[in-house]
Amino acid sequence: MKALGEEGLLERVAALLADPRHAEHPLREALEALYLQHRDQQEQLERLMSISDRYQSLAREAQQVTQKRYERALKRQKKLSRISDRYQALMRERNQTLHQEAHHDALTELPNRRLIDERLAQLDRGGRRYTLALLDIDHFKQINDEYGHDVGDELLVAITRTMRQGLRDYDLCGRWGGEEFLLLLGDTGLEEASSIVERLRTRLAQVRVASGDQWLSVTLSAGLSEHRVGEPYLTTLQRADQALLEAKREGRDRSQLASC
Ligand code: GH3
Ligand code: MG
Ligand code: MG
Repeated sequence: MKALGEEGLLERVAALLADPRHAEHPLREALEALYLQHRDQQEQLERLMSISDRYQSLAREAQQVTQKRYERALKRQKKLSRISDRYQALMRERNQTLHQEAHHDALTELPNRRLIDERLAQLDRGGRRYTLALLDIDHFKQINDEYGHDVGDELLVAITRTMRQGLRDYDLCGRWGGEEFLLLLGDTGLEEASSIVERLRTRLAQVRVASGDQWLSVTLSAGLSEHRVGEPYLTTLQRADQALLEAKREGRDRSQLASC
C-alpha cells in the first residue's frame, strides 16, 4: 500500500468507518475508538501549540518593551551623567576660583597673608631651614599723594612682576600688607638670602612707571631673619619686622639682617 500522510490515513479510516459495509465488522468499534482518541489528542496538541505560539509572541513583545524601557532609562542615565559631570566641573572651577580669591591678593595676584601663614605653619611642622625677608617700599605714600592712587597701583603691579621674575621657583613671595612684601626663601641661610634680596632690590629700583611725561621709580628697604630651629614662625617674623624698622631708621634703601 502506498504510504499515506497522517491526514490521508485518518481520512481513509474515517471513510472505512462510514462505509455501511463494515458496520458489523468485529474491529470497527475498536478502530472507531482509536480514531476518536487520535482526533482528540490531535486537537489537544494543536491547542497546546497555539498556546505556546501565543506565549512566545507575548514573551517577544514583553522583551521588546523591556528593551525599549532599558534603552530609554540608559539614555536618561547618560544625560544625567553628562549634567552631573558638567555640574561637578563647574563646582570644581568655582572652588578653585574661591580658593584663589581667598588666598591671593586681587591687585597683584600674589599670595596673601592667609596663604603665607599656612605655608609658614607647614614649614614649622616640617622643620626645614628658611629665611624670611620683609620688603617695604620707601615713601610710597608720596607716590600716591603726588601722582595718584592709580599710578601707585601700577607701581605695585610692576614691582610684583619683577619680584616674581627675580625669585627661584621654590621661593614664595606674598603681599604682606599695603606696600609690604614677604619673601619666604626655602632651604636658605641668612647670608645667601641677603645676596638674593640685594640683587632683587637692585632690580626693583630699576622698575619704571610712566606718569605724564615722567618716569617714576622707588626703592625698597628690607629686614631679614633666619628661622631658628624650634621657634614659631611668628618669632622669626617679629625679628624680620624689627630689622626692617632698623633699615628704615638707618635711612631706607637698604637691607638689615636680624642677628641669628
Ligand atoms: P616708609 O618709607 O616709612 O615705608 O613710608 P611709606 O610712605 O611707604 O609708608 P606709609 O606706611 O606711611 O604709607 C604706606 C602707603 O601705601 C599708604 C597707603 O595709601 C599706600 N598703599 C597701601 N596699599 C596700597 C595699594 O593697594 N595701592 C596704592 N596705590 N597705595 C597703597
Ligand atoms: Mg613704605
Ligand atoms: Mg609699610
